[in-house]
Amino acid sequence: MPGPDVPHALRVLVLGGTTEARRLAESLAGDRRVRVTTSLAGRVAAPRLPPGEVRVGGFGGPHGLAAWMREHRVDALIDATHPFAATMSRNAAEAAAQTHVPLLALRRPGWVAQDGDRWHFAGSLAEAAELLPTLGERVFLTTGRTGLAAFADLDALWFLVRSVDAPEPPCPVRMEVLLDRGPFDLDGEREIIRRHRVDVLVTKDSGGDATAPKLAAAREAGIPVVVVRRPPVPEGVPVARTPDEAVRWVRKLYASG
Ligand code: NAP
Repeated sequence: MPGPDVPHALRVLVLGGTTEARRLAESLAGDRRVRVTTSLAGRVAAPRLPPGEVRVGGFGGPHGLAAWMREHRVDALIDATHPFAATMSRNAAEAAAQTHVPLLALRRPGWVAQDGDRWHFAGSLAEAAELLPTLGERVFLTTGRTGLAAFADLDALWFLVRSVDAPEPPCPVRMEVLLDRGPFDLDGEREIIRRHRVDVLVTKDSGGDATAPKLAAAREAGIPVVVVRRPPVPEGVPVARTPDEAVRWVRKLYASG
């Protein structure tokens, strides 16, 4: 894990793939007491890279992650993956326990319904798919390119699928793909709903500002939204809500030696 040559620098591994992970790496980049490596899964063809060291690709499960952490003498682990990257979060908890390395989860808060919202909560993509035929016929599906199999049998519905990279089968039969990456603005989201005559939106409860305008656009249009609930953070793992909170956690660790 190369980096600035500071004796006793705290080696921090950030599990990334989110805006917050990048902001955290940016905040820690100028601190010579800390050496940050960000890990990306490698799912996105051209990811926005954070400053500092970056490694790409899976570790091979929790044991692989623990082995990597031992080999690179990681002092602190921050799980800043997307709130729906549940497998990686479980692996992080297991690897931290195996290696006795302190672990923090960085999770932006979820979205909160406002007056006028017509939200229907689902526990999973499969549950969202079950709800859809009761809510609309022209679906704006913004849950990402993975997991489309859950919607593949809904032949009576039409889907506008928005994702960063092209989805792979199995996908819904009646589907148009919109390749795009946030942030998105309200005007653009309004226009998508109008032009495609969308009558129901599906989203994960990702939280954050970058993709929130679709919720306001749906509220304005009076259309229902299926909100897929987040998986829980693994038990016992402390949570920071912002990159700044995570920076304070790192500095506290450094100060405590
Ligand atoms: P996941 O289902 O929780 O993880 C599947 C496997 O991908 C993990 O077991 C791990 O492989 C590898 N992996 C995931 N995150 C990794 C990371 N940061 N560094 C190295 N390996 C990683 O994850 P996912 O939902 O597919 O998400 C993959 C990445 O996309 C994450 O970095 C996440 O932050 C980002 N992302 C996800 C979503 C979403 O909706 N799920 C949305 C936006 C961004 P090994 O077991 O081999 O280590």
